[in-house]
Amino acid sequence: KAQAAVKIAKRSGKVEIYRNGVLKEAQRRFSIESRLRDALSQGGLSLAYQPLIHLQTGEITGFEALARWNDAELGNVPPTEFIAVAEESGLITSLGRWAAYEAAQAMSRWDAKYGQPLPVSVNVNLSAIQIARDDVESMFEEALRYAGIAGQRMTAELTESAIVADPDKARKWLFALKDLDMSIAMDDFGTGFSNLASLHTLPIDILKIDRSFVSSMLEDRDKAVIVRTILSLAESLNLKVTAEGIENQALALQLQNLGCWQGQGYYFAKPMNEADAFDYWRARWNFETI
Ligand code: C2E
Ligand code: MG
Ligand code: MG
Ligand code: MG
Repeated sequence: KAQAAVKIAKRSGKVEIYRNGVLKEAQRRFSIESRLRDALSQGGLSLAYQPLIHLQTGEITGFEALARWNDAELGNVPPTEFIAVAEESGLITSLGRWAAYEAAQAMSRWDAKYGQPLPVSVNVNLSAIQIARDDVESMFEEALRYAGIAGQRMTAELTESAIVADPDKARKWLFALKDLDMSIAMDDFGTGFSNLASLHTLPIDILKIDRSFVSSMLEDRDKAVIVRTILSLAESLNLKVTAEGIENQALALQLQNLGCWQGQGYYFAKPMNEADAFDYWRARWNFETI
């Protein structure tokens, strides 16, 4: 790829500029990888928690755990960037393990603070590459046991690519997670190469409609059609639906009217640190009105 870029650049006489660009990119990738390796072994990552709201009742049903990394040298690195590097470098296995353990332990710390189990669940994101390389079944089993958390309080979020890569393997570990009483959510639904048959034959519980369809559905007719189609597909397959990217009240109300089960987005709350998420839950465990 880099060579091709240089070739094209040579032809157009911009070789230096391209070389610098490619070099800078490689340097950044390299420093992210080495700093990330240190961060993973030294506790330098954290999880942020974004509330999931039951759209019909206003209850907070759970939180999605989202990895955050504020590095002393690199500053705040967005998860899309460091997750990609983690996937390329193989660090995604330890990152994914850390996230599952950390999310389960955060829940047990909330329970301890509250004096009894919070009626919420935590969603943990899985990468297709992590799934291909690791035994996610025993990862979750151990993380739950270590934290003393019931499996029904944890949801695994995976993308369609995790199934497309190896459907037979996916079937095995998905059913294994169900044996742990966990729920399974299909993340970024609508953006991938959906194999609709797999929704029917695999133990999927939840479809998360991608933000790119939700956030503009009030202005963009095509997006609205996609959202309605996913909702009716889910209804006929007996799946629950979470809408991501709800940024204003009008969207929340529209999705409520359409019968969507759960919502997530800046309108309700941005991802928060563990302590703030707990305070938020205690103060507003039930939204009076959406
Ligand atoms: P995702 O799993 O689809 O997570 C939802 C993303 O949408 C989060 O971005 C969240 O902050 C953002 N979001 C939620 N509501 C709104 C809204 O109303 N408006 C807008 N503009 N954005 C909203 P974030 O935290 O930057 O994470 C990006 C992606 O990085 C995640 O997308 C997920 O694919 C990946 N990721 C994050 N943490 C992990 C992790 O622990 N493991 C793995 N494998 N991937 C992770
Ligand atoms: Mg997710
Ligand atoms: Mg998502
Ligand atoms: Mg998404």
